[in-house]
Amino acid sequence: MQVHPNFVNRFEGVTFPVKVKYCGECGLPIEYCSYFPDYEKCKIWLEKNLPSDFEKLLDVSGGAEGGDGDETGEGGKKSGRQKRGGKGIVKTKKKAEVDRHIGLWRANRGKKKYVTIVSGLTTFEIDLKEASKFFAGKFACGSSVTGNEVVIQGDVKDDLFDIITEKWPEVDEDSIEDMGEKKI
Ligand SMILES: [Zn+2]
Repeated sequence: MQVHPNFVNRFEGVTFPVKVKYCGECGLPIEYCSYFPDYEKCKIWLEKNLPSDFEKLLDVSGGAEGGDGDETGEGGKKSGRQKRGGKGIVKTKKKAEVDRHIGLWRANRGKKKYVTIVSGLTTFEIDLKEASKFFAGKFACGSSVTGNEVVIQGDVKDDLFDIITEKWPEVDEDSIEDMGEKKI
């Protein structure tokens, strides 16, 4: 039985000149789903309807595999289009998946004055201003937002592990790391 090669390729959904696939949820090419406000819904749709593409979208973000890897099967078919697609996917991935990790530092601000620096809260989508206010109330001390970090007056690092996980249950204690001293 002879099967037309194009058919085979399309069937495997891997190589043959990749047609842009559109998302049934937002109607955009799937690489753009992450820009759509209802990306969560897109994800559900993608997972159901285009599981392998969905996996790729998520996959590339880790960067572990490097873009080109998977199943370029038949070789040779690396068109410009595919490359562009690849880049788009990488972007999407970066946006979709951040390394969720909170770091706690103690820093010396002169004469036995310490501050505690909390980084990474935003990776859990925690509002920094809110967090800063919360810490200030909790420790009855000054607290401010500096760049991407919250700086708390005083050495409160040890208490933060409990306080953060209590206040934001989505934060797992293992993702909070004691980073030691920070030289300022
Ligand atoms: Zn979508």
